[in-house]
Amino acid sequence: MSYENIKEELLNWSLKFKEKQGHAPHMCFLTFGCQMSFHDAELIAGLLWELGFVKIDQPEQADIIVMNTCSVRESAENRVLGQLGRLKHLKENNPDMIIAFGGCMAQRPEIVEKIEKSYRQVDLLFGTHKIDDFLRLLHNVLFSQSRSKDLEETNALPKEGLPRLRVQKHSAMVSITYGCNNFCTYCIVPYVRGRERSRRPEDIISEIEFLVADGVKEVTLLGQNVNSYGKGLEPQVDFADLLVEVAEITDLKRIRFMTSHPRDVSDKLISAFAQYDNICKHFHLPLQAGSNSILKAMNRGYSKEKYLQLAQKIKEDVPQVSFTTDIIVGFPSETEEEFQETLDLVEKIGFDSAYTFIYSKRGGTPAAQMEGQVPYQIKQQRIQRLMDLQAEISLQKNLKLEGETLQVLVEGPSKNDANMYTGRSDGYKLVHFPSQEDKTGEIISVKIEKASPWHLTGRLV
Ligand code: SF4
Repeated sequence: MSYENIKEELLNWSLKFKEKQGHAPHMCFLTFGCQMSFHDAELIAGLLWELGFVKIDQPEQADIIVMNTCSVRESAENRVLGQLGRLKHLKENNPDMIIAFGGCMAQRPEIVEKIEKSYRQVDLLFGTHKIDDFLRLLHNVLFSQSRSKDLEETNALPKEGLPRLRVQKHSAMVSITYGCNNFCTYCIVPYVRGRERSRRPEDIISEIEFLVADGVKEVTLLGQNVNSYGKGLEPQVDFADLLVEVAEITDLKRIRFMTSHPRDVSDKLISAFAQYDNICKHFHLPLQAGSNSILKAMNRGYSKEKYLQLAQKIKEDVPQVSFTTDIIVGFPSETEEEFQETLDLVEKIGFDSAYTFIYSKRGGTPAAQMEGQVPYQIKQQRIQRLMDLQAEISLQKNLKLEGETLQVLVEGPSKNDANMYTGRSDGYKLVHFPSQEDKTGEIISVKIEKASPWHLTGRLV
């Protein structure tokens, strides 16, 4: 059946549903993990919205629940399975409810086997390569009353121009690459998101032009490793070229990109990063570890000296840069001396902030089989020492911003205080400020009055 016929039959189904139930079918999204997962959820929401589905937050009242899952750590998977278990009761109360399970966990055969055997409440299984095929799978479930799945690894790019129901009106994530070829030994991503493939620059530019026309002020260029963008594309293009083209889009106020890989950061990229005011001066560059022996065991492809050199060049060329990173502690065989090297490098570089993680065994990755797994207690002690060090460094960095006026894109009311609003500075600093008016979506000036390690507080100028 053609895709158009599938859409037409689903639209008729949705209209009949509305007539019978007195309301449009409700869709609810349970999304776990990284930006890519949330991006996929927005695409599926767009496909269903076009068919008249209405988005709600309460799973109890949903007619379809779509789960986009994360496999980065075992604990993340257990959380998802726990949530899926709880959905069983909702399905018992509403047998017509459809539960769709997808994302990285659906690319793991042992998880799929568990779902098919023990989680009968799941009606639809969709893979990370099959987001644009979601409607065909839904059609199978609705019209053939049977479970439906498609987990094929096509390494194809999703169809261009799919409708998207964005969560944020004023900012948007724009995928530029899918998959990863780096095979860091602790990471499951290459096994669940496939080989690296880049979208054509003209497709990315036209999507961003559409977003800017739709009121978006800030875009984040998204990929597991954005710096290797363009590999395999003809005519030749690299990430620096794309960044310049995006920066020249009229009325685009802010550009961010994540995630970078030190192995692929070029001087050309650093100069493009420095050249345009609308490229936010925040550079997130995962270090992961500070010792060469651990970096080698992680298959990261660079040395601590190379990383230090890169960090110094970026800071020299862009003195106002906010430089952040990711670090894993307790990687198999990590000794106290090797961990000390990480602390020394963190002190030497002086990151504005760092996302720190305790290494956790991930089935299906080479590191899970490695000798010398570090005891959990040691890992806990190490991450506390690293977080204490980084908190002190972040505080010193933020103290220098007291009295400064920063440009902040307001994300909305603070979750903890209704009179306070929250937003991000150009350097991706979290800024809180009081306001009587709702300034959500605006780029405003905030004079910083108080610094803390993880956020800044100020007042509207
Ligand atoms: S670069 Fe490494 S850590 Fe990042 S997604 Fe690829 S394999 Fe995973």
